[in-house]
Amino acid sequence: MQNALTVDLEDWYHICGTADNAAHHRWPEYESRVTRNTDKVLAFLKRHDARATFFVLGYIAEKEPGLIKNIRSHGHEIAIHGYYHQRLFELTRSSFEDDIKRSIDVVGSITGEPVIGYRAPEWSIRSSTLWALDVLRKHGILYDSSMVPLTRMGERSFQTSPHSIKTPYGEIREFPLTTMRVLWERLPFTGGLPLRIAPYWYIVSKLKRINAAGEPGLVYVHPWEFDAEQPRIELSLSRRFMHYFNIRSTAPKFEGLLKHINFAPVREVLGLG
Ligand SMILES: [Zn+2]
Repeated sequence: MQNALTVDLEDWYHICGTADNAAHHRWPEYESRVTRNTDKVLAFLKRHDARATFFVLGYIAEKEPGLIKNIRSHGHEIAIHGYYHQRLFELTRSSFEDDIKRSIDVVGSITGEPVIGYRAPEWSIRSSTLWALDVLRKHGILYDSSMVPLTRMGERSFQTSPHSIKTPYGEIREFPLTTMRVLWERLPFTGGLPLRIAPYWYIVSKLKRINAAGEPGLVYVHPWEFDAEQPRIELSLSRRFMHYFNIRSTAPKFEGLLKHINFAPVREVLGLG
């Protein structure tokens, strides 16, 4: 059973809900660490002969086209993560459409291939922003990976495994974040802070159990999680914890997962070629 391996390609200062993230006119002032951090991720993938989907920020692609070409040349899928890393509930339908068109244009012109995958910044699809799926499909996006079946991050009513959703422009596939049932709630454990907190053996055994039940899982990392020396942004206590806690554990856990779990890009796991 293949599982989806995903990398949200953004730099250390792209943190949702902060003034730094909102003020994108100031981004050029920040040190770019994305290439060297992504090189670390690529080295792990190469060592374990694994391929992934990179959800690329349009802003990064425009600044670092060579980085995107390099990732593609290693056989990874290039998909999009929005242009300015804004959460969907901060955008109108038409500003979202502009952001998507711009992202697809930039990334597609670098790879010379159609872009078919999307992930919303901070998994921000809610029932109030489901119009995003219509806009994505309208512009040729065939799958989304932004829905989280949880009360706090997404919507509790969202489905827990890959499925299709109808839009006026045709069906779009959804690959939600993998979660597990714990008592009456579900919890994420395959990316971000939960991956850094959960013991490695626990993550592997849960993923294997999901696979044994016939479902693929989904893992995600960010290049900045491989950079313990990154400059610190002033954040609220909870956001600071979410962003930096146990950051040094990402690399060894990621490597362990690559050793023991079968991975492929999202488009292949979904049978989209
Ligand atoms: Zn992101």
